Amino acid sequence: MQTATAPQTRSVEEVWKKRPLIISGPCSAETEEQVLATATRLAATGKVDVLRSGIWKPRTRPGSFEGIGTKGLPWLQAAKKATGLLTAVEVATAKQVEDALHFDVDILWIGARTTVNPFSVQEVADALKGAKVPVLIKNPINPDLELWIGAVERVAKAGIKDIGLIHRGFSSYGNSEYRNAPMWHLAIEMKRRNPELLIINDPSHICGRRDILQDVAQKAIDLDFDGLIIESHIDPDNAWSDAKQQVTPERLAEMLDSITWRR
Ligand code: PEP
Ligand code: MN
Repeated sequence: MQTATAPQTRSVEEVWKKRPLIISGPCSAETEEQVLATATRLAATGKVDVLRSGIWKPRTRPGSFEGIGTKGLPWLQAAKKATGLLTAVEVATAKQVEDALHFDVDILWIGARTTVNPFSVQEVADALKGAKVPVLIKNPINPDLELWIGAVERVAKAGIKDIGLIHRGFSSYGNSEYRNAPMWHLAIEMKRRNPELLIINDPSHICGRRDILQDVAQKAIDLDFDGLIIESHIDPDNAWSDAKQQVTPERLAEMLDSITWRR
């Protein structure tokens, strides 16, 4: 008789130091089955460290899927138990921080629409006081390094020791090749001014489409970024948010295999 062995979960400290740090998972948690299937297929690639999944979705305009909410957090716990992948969730309010910590989410991130607002960042920072969780901070949607640095300072003042940056590009008016222009020079300048912080790149939200994801990911690695956060879904075309930019776990693995890594 075969006995199932529980997958080994690495410690957050160990994963935080891993280079390249690879985070992947759906833009949004949709159903328990979708979260579990995505996590299982990502873990099977052997190339992913952390499962990302949006639980509360900051949509620019109302009327689209705004996230499954707190009821999705146990799904992430179950996915972690089944696969050993650590979990990461976006938080934008004190209640979301409390709920995410209550359900043992391993890494929190502050989204681009939150980083622009010092009141919101301060609310999140206050809720983080006393927590040991690592926090990743996305650049604000507008190209303002001071806002990005201000968010880092607020979270650091709350006592969070492990802080990282996510470069997800900057919005602008009109059509362009990118959903959010990378403006690489700003990420490079942010890196130069905060050499102690890890910085990862988010090709998914920069590109908004699948076909140029790999080029952007490669550029980030060439620029010595510490890792990547890339959205993946078991059925990308039918994702409830960001359908155009998500890839299957297997396609993600192919992409990661094709990247030339520096270290
Ligand atoms: C996301 O990661 O799904 C997201 C909403 O990203 P951003 O804050 O970069 O728009
Ligand atoms: Mn998304």
